[in-house]
Amino acid sequence: MSVAESLRPAPSSMLPRVIVKRRRARPLFARHPWLFAGSIERVEGDAADGAEVVVESHDGEFIARGLYNGQSQIRVRLYSWQPDQALDAACWRARLADAVRLRRDVLGLDDPAGACRLVFSEADAISGLVVDRYGPWLVAQVTSLAIAERLGVFTHLLVELCRPRGIYLRTERGVAAAEGLRISDGPIGGDVPVEPVRITEDDLVYEVDIRTGQKTGFYLDQRENRRAMARYARGRRVLDVFCYTGGFALAAARAGASEVLGVDVSEAAVAAARSNAALNGLGAVRFEAADAFEFMHERAAEGEAGGYGMVILDPPKFARHTRSLDAALRGYHRANRLAVDLIEPDGILVTCSCSGHVSRADFAAILGGVAEESGRSIQILAERGQAADHPVSASCLETSYLKCFIARVV
Ligand code: SAH
Repeated sequence: MSVAESLRPAPSSMLPRVIVKRRRARPLFARHPWLFAGSIERVEGDAADGAEVVVESHDGEFIARGLYNGQSQIRVRLYSWQPDQALDAACWRARLADAVRLRRDVLGLDDPAGACRLVFSEADAISGLVVDRYGPWLVAQVTSLAIAERLGVFTHLLVELCRPRGIYLRTERGVAAAEGLRISDGPIGGDVPVEPVRITEDDLVYEVDIRTGQKTGFYLDQRENRRAMARYARGRRVLDVFCYTGGFALAAARAGASEVLGVDVSEAAVAAARSNAALNGLGAVRFEAADAFEFMHERAAEGEAGGYGMVILDPPKFARHTRSLDAALRGYHRANRLAVDLIEPDGILVTCSCSGHVSRADFAAILGGVAEESGRSIQILAERGQAADHPVSASCLETSYLKCFIARVV
């Protein structure tokens, strides 16, 4: 769709109507943005995939305007609860400008060499779009077909608002199939960086490969947790498990850890972590490519039990679906048990879970189980979440996914 076309709003009376089943409308009135296929009574009119629709209650009451996708379980994504608010370029421009203002004016994440999440999907009222800024580069991730169809509009608006050197599109595994997306990774505007992009976070420099790195290249959601961890790192022997490109490891070294070892199964991540350590002139940091579970198990067997003053655990998402929750909880239990065994008395455990399906209560209960099993007291000193540039929408609590607990293991 061209910008001009999407500037021409359709009055809501002319749009196809999606009627919600009785007793299923409450969350939608409360501004939850996902209407699932199973909650739809019927569709009136020709709702093409990606098209704008009006969502109504069983009694014919207006609920919201949204974008339809017959190929997704999230059949309609809701964007506006005002009947006269068309989902056109002017609407997207206002939302992107809002999102940029939060990062720049409220959070002060305006260092030109810094990195931050500029747009966080539902949490910024643009369900299906994520945009991260790495210095002068933007990386976009699209998770909905309707947004993919409007990519030209979003690219145009992002260029206008942010003046990036280039915008690169990344797609998340599995999402393309779930939404029926036909897009692939690559540049969607401006130049492409030929080398990894150098970004600064708290006076540390990290190289980020926006084309091949995990997610969009760097775990920006952990920025404030790395800072919180640093408060406890001085003088300690630190083990950073699931270290990726060294985010926590470097922050611990900079904060005065006596020694830091990072472990990750990905050889590419470990190579990048080593080069990041060198880039910052940090000598007391080493990295090793290994499976985290085997590594921790072997270290304990080799007499390193109780040998670390701090263990950081930041595993990948163990629970992708509710049905894998039990297996995920067992995985977190095992990882945390192994970590606790390596921690000296009065040592610090920094433990994270990025699975949205695992609640804070579940996560605390895992630590309780580990305390019981290991006979060690675990005192939670801080219960943290994702950095503020990944805000949580009070209307869509699924946007809250990251947990980071800092605990003393007595
Ligand atoms: N703490 C990191 C982000 C970690 S993301 C940061 O601040 O940047 C999770 C990491 O776990 C990924 O780098 C992934 O390669 C790694 N990983 C996944 N399975 C693993 C396993 N079994 N053993 C070790 N690392 C693993």
